[in-house]
Amino acid sequence: MNNEKALQALEFYYGYKSFRPMQAEIIEKITSGKDTLILMPTGGGKSICYQIPAIIMEGTGVIVSPLISLMKDQVEALKSNGVEAAYLNSSLTAAEQRDVEERLYSGKLDMIYVSPEKLVTKEFVLSLSRIKINLFAIDEAHCVSAWGHDFRPEYTHLKFLKQQYPNTPVVACTATADKITRRDIVKQLQMQEPEVFISSFDRPNLSLDVRPGVKRFEQILKFIKERPNQSGIVYCLSRKSTESVAAKLRAKDIDAEHYHAGMPPQKRAQVQEDFINDKTPIVCATIAFGMGIDKSNVRWVIHYNMPQNIEGFYQEIGRAGRDGVASDTMLFYSYADVQNWKDIISKNESSQNEIKLSKLNRMQQYATSLFCRRKVLLNYFSENWRDNCGNCDICKNPPEYFNGTVIAQKALSAIYRLRQNTGLLLLIDVLRGSQRREIFDKGYNKIKTYGAGRDYSFQEWRHYLEQLLNQGYIEIAHDDGNKIKLTTASQAVLFEGEKVQLIKLVTAQQRAEKDRKKANVKVKIERNRVRDDVFEHLRQLRATMAREEGIPPYIIFSDATLEEMAAMKPTTEAAMQQISGVGAQKWKKYGRTFMRAIETYCKENNIDLTPPPVKEVVVAPKPKKDPKAPKIPTAEQTYQLYQKGLTVEQIAEQRELKGSTIAGHLVKLYEAGRNIPIQKFVSKTEIQQVAEAIQSMEEPYRAGEIFVALQEQLTYPKIYFALAYIRKQKS
Ligand code: ADP
Ligand code: ZN
Repeated sequence: MNNEKALQALEFYYGYKSFRPMQAEIIEKITSGKDTLILMPTGGGKSICYQIPAIIMEGTGVIVSPLISLMKDQVEALKSNGVEAAYLNSSLTAAEQRDVEERLYSGKLDMIYVSPEKLVTKEFVLSLSRIKINLFAIDEAHCVSAWGHDFRPEYTHLKFLKQQYPNTPVVACTATADKITRRDIVKQLQMQEPEVFISSFDRPNLSLDVRPGVKRFEQILKFIKERPNQSGIVYCLSRKSTESVAAKLRAKDIDAEHYHAGMPPQKRAQVQEDFINDKTPIVCATIAFGMGIDKSNVRWVIHYNMPQNIEGFYQEIGRAGRDGVASDTMLFYSYADVQNWKDIISKNESSQNEIKLSKLNRMQQYATSLFCRRKVLLNYFSENWRDNCGNCDICKNPPEYFNGTVIAQKALSAIYRLRQNTGLLLLIDVLRGSQRREIFDKGYNKIKTYGAGRDYSFQEWRHYLEQLLNQGYIEIAHDDGNKIKLTTASQAVLFEGEKVQLIKLVTAQQRAEKDRKKANVKVKIERNRVRDDVFEHLRQLRATMAREEGIPPYIIFSDATLEEMAAMKPTTEAAMQQISGVGAQKWKKYGRTFMRAIETYCKENNIDLTPPPVKEVVVAPKPKKDPKAPKIPTAEQTYQLYQKGLTVEQIAEQRELKGSTIAGHLVKLYEAGRNIPIQKFVSKTEIQQVAEAIQSMEEPYRAGEIFVALQEQLTYPKIYFALAYIRKQKS
């Protein structure tokens, strides 16, 4: 019963067609009167979980929210969906306050948002007794815990809710809570046997990318130019760099502002406002920016410097893509940032230092990881995650190892001959044979390894030395002027012939080249959406309308909704209402305008108005096998199709098997003497490439290794065929 009502409300008010995982279940629990604790990442869809019960149950929902700006935004979004909502906090004038109170007492409100300070005042507690309350929702519930990182003393008074209203469900929501905080929330709010819902913290729509912190500005510039009209945040460590990066962007004709806590409050508010309203697309900011911003269409987040810990990092990148649309994140890493943090931490004598350093260490591990970065993140949040995500730089470009023993030997012996008495920069200069005065003054030009590393650029050396550091072959003496020192592991390389594996430095250009080749690796997104000229046209229409109404554009329609409109091109009422995010109120207010805009624009520009064919996912049961039919060996089945003239890919598709499996079948038959012209599947050059790759490998050759050695340029089936050919030649 409630379920049906809930689904109707979802469709009617929000225009969404189905619940996300857990939402329906959570709503069911709340409407049956259970206390509920919800842990979901930012953008996971927590709000709907308490908003819908507040709408469908009799009475008013009381929502406690710590941030005034968020409150206003949420209420505005609800109102634009036709929900009766209002807020009470210190930002209202006396008259506005009275008006809200009147509506509250008349029982007209579905929801009232209040700040914790307001909630605990005597007057408000009294006024609550005059209305029927259907639930209490505590947003950002981790603020109640002194263990958490945003402790709010006023939150600890909230236990009076359960004491005074033992039968009214309390819903606690948060996006950050470890086990201790979780327990604390339940205890502090005196929740009664709460139902706990913990969803995965994965945000699959966020791409993860870490780049070496060299030529940062050029990389940012390129990144932004590849994403015209997109809104994003560049997080910087210092106030000064927020200003300089923004200024440099403006000098390149890119609209950007800076934001930090040292600016006058008015100016800060203005920058934030313009960002929310899509007037300023890009803000370069310290981490002071973002708290309390509900803007759902932030399309990317860049970290100019590495944050101090993963919690902070995840919260900051979490500001991108709240609407579920694919969004990008990029972190610059250099060892200098780590050093900087270490200095900052050690300057403060605190009992927390050890924890801070270990958290910093985890952050560095993320930045230098050679494995799928999402795995590192989610494992940090105690989610045992095994699969590679396919949407991080490591998954897209697995690192290429090479034998770096000689490079390591050069570096280590230089350190040895420099008596472990120099920092990183001077060491590199010596290796590269720099003509710097200091080198001659100190006689470093006379050591044997002077200039031994000329063949590598400064960048390359830094990259390799950081790897030697991460692998423990060298260390940095933080208590001795950051000089580079040898370790026991370096002895093994210098004197015992230990081999060192290093990873190639991929330049931005090489990377772009690779990315181009892999452009077909697309992230799966939820629905049929596109970002094209039609989208751009609708985006501009949305901006104009938002300006006229004085509300943020994403309150009218989210980016996800516009993308779907651009793909489906609805020109009838029914089709428009099929678009996710077009509820009853939005249809009434904006439906026709957008419908007409699509129609006119497409006609003027000769764009076909027919929507793309909907890809039907056929979930029909697979045809049952006839148990009496004779069993044909699987390789033979492949062979039969091959004889019909099908390609490897076609056979794979038809048999719902991998291409490499089909190749395996054909190779097996070929080796058994069947007449299969292997050369048809793989070219001479390709065979040659495989032959060269396996020269440095031992039998049995592994296709995976060859795949990596050939920089993923050859498919697995081709590798199988080439190996079969080579084996035949040998025998
Ligand atoms: P949170 O409060 O967890 O940060 P929100 O409640 O703001 O997340 O939801 C994030 C976005 O996802 C919003 O734009 C919201 O409208 C959208 N959303 C939530 N539930 C659904 C759903 N069932 N279908 C489609 N979109 C949804
Ligand atoms: Zn990955």
